[in-house]
Amino acid sequence: MSPPLMSIATADALPDSADTVVIGAGIVGTCAAYWLARAGQRVVLLEKGRVGAEQSSRNWGWCRQQNRDARELPLSTKSLALWEQMAVDIGEDLGFSRCGLLYLSNDEKEIETWAAWGRYARGEGIDTRMLGTAEAAERGAATGKSWKGGVWSPTDGIADPARAAPVIAKGVIKHGGVVVQNCAARGIETQAGAVCGVITERGVIRTRQVVLSGGAWAASFLHQLGIAFPQAAIRSSILSVAPGAQGLPAALHTAGVSVTRRGDGGCTLAISGFGKVDPTPGTIFGAKYFLPMFAKRWRLLSPGGLQAWRAGFETRARWRMDRPTPMESMRILDPRPSRRTLDLTLARARELLPQLRNVPVQAEWAGYIDSTPDGVPVIDGNIGVDGLLLAAGLSGHGFGIGPGVGHLVADLLLGREAITETAQYRLSRFDKSQWGKVSEF
Ligand SMILES: Cc1cc2nc3c(=O)[nH]c(=O)nc-3n(C[C@H](O)[C@H](O)[C@H](O)COP(=O)(O)OP(=O)(O)OC[C@H]3O[C@@H](n4cnc5c(N)ncnc54)[C@H](O)[C@@H]3O)c2cc1C
Repeated sequence: MSPPLMSIATADALPDSADTVVIGAGIVGTCAAYWLARAGQRVVLLEKGRVGAEQSSRNWGWCRQQNRDARELPLSTKSLALWEQMAVDIGEDLGFSRCGLLYLSNDEKEIETWAAWGRYARGEGIDTRMLGTAEAAERGAATGKSWKGGVWSPTDGIADPARAAPVIAKGVIKHGGVVVQNCAARGIETQAGAVCGVITERGVIRTRQVVLSGGAWAASFLHQLGIAFPQAAIRSSILSVAPGAQGLPAALHTAGVSVTRRGDGGCTLAISGFGKVDPTPGTIFGAKYFLPMFAKRWRLLSPGGLQAWRAGFETRARWRMDRPTPMESMRILDPRPSRRTLDLTLARARELLPQLRNVPVQAEWAGYIDSTPDGVPVIDGNIGVDGLLLAAGLSGHGFGIGPGVGHLVADLLLGREAITETAQYRLSRFDKSQWGKVSEF
């Protein structure tokens, strides 16, 4: 079952040309198209299925600086301000609020990890507060349990995954951009090593600039151009419950289960880091590069089945430009969730928060989280074809930084000052000496 997602009306006709074509309308593609259109560019945003229907509507909605890898921290701080700015500019609610995030634990090692991150982050100007036993009990009163400690990050927040990408796509249209749904980009046309067009299932768009923000599909798309992008997806299962539970924190993380308030008043329930590794040509060919990450998370990961292989998003086959591609036979990647994980998640959530015992399950779903070997995205316009910029591999925490990633993409394409440094996001970091370095948080 898919998660709730707002529908928007978009164009049917494909423009002949554009300043920039953005491929993929998740949070990254919609934000990139938004900032480019807002700067006056003629932008076309292509989506093979529905705007936001893959990872960007399947997540918890956390927009956090807390526990961010140092390489992403400035971007996450900027993104929080951009969430607010975009909602005002578009004039529609993105479900974003700085409601604060609450982390509770009885594990001293985990608490010390948070404390170590806090010492670093406070030096960077981040407001993150360690909680002692009494404060943790007070902030976590809804659990009715005692806790050894926790963290409160008051300036972080949540946005609504059911609305964010569609509302931002409406912002693209408001600024003169064209959004086309149910239209897959099959490939890139080049001339003398530079982009000259995008081949879609409905014809060609002439352009000199392309953003590939195709989420889990990015590596197989780049494979057609002979560009290697190490990417592997993990299947994460998640559920939501109906409105009705009172007095819960807006966003609570514990090692057992995490609970997040949704825009409709219900809650999303999930187990952090828990997932299935479904074998694909991508994970098999890239296994040695992803082993350090899988090894670090082995307690939470388990082998899955063949559904990812069948879905075709990590194929290493070459496809023809004049025939339907795997993207057209799989308009929306909507994997089956793990029944065991869902049952365990619900049981843990109801044990943690008794208020959840009286509210029924509303929806259950899964999402493929696309990851790089070091858990940090690639945002790079220098990947081997002039005019082609890759923005993918958001590695399970890209929703919150989507506005900043989109802004950075626009900065790079427009040649203006970038909102953060970019060196850490280069594709070339995945040379043999670097693969295997895994993000600490
Ligand atoms: C269960 C779960 C929980 C998560 N929780 C959080 C969280 O709390 N906070 C957080 O920050 N992040 C979270 N994430 C991660 C976050 O959702 C992703 O990092 C982010 O949404 C990735 O956005 P994206 O735009 O790169 O990819 P996607 O949202 O997957 O979008 C890519 C889009 O490209 C389209 N596409 C692909 N190829 C083509 C093509 N050739 N032509 C046209 N269209 C194409 C696809 O159809 C898709 O719509 C979570 C993810 C999951 C699955």
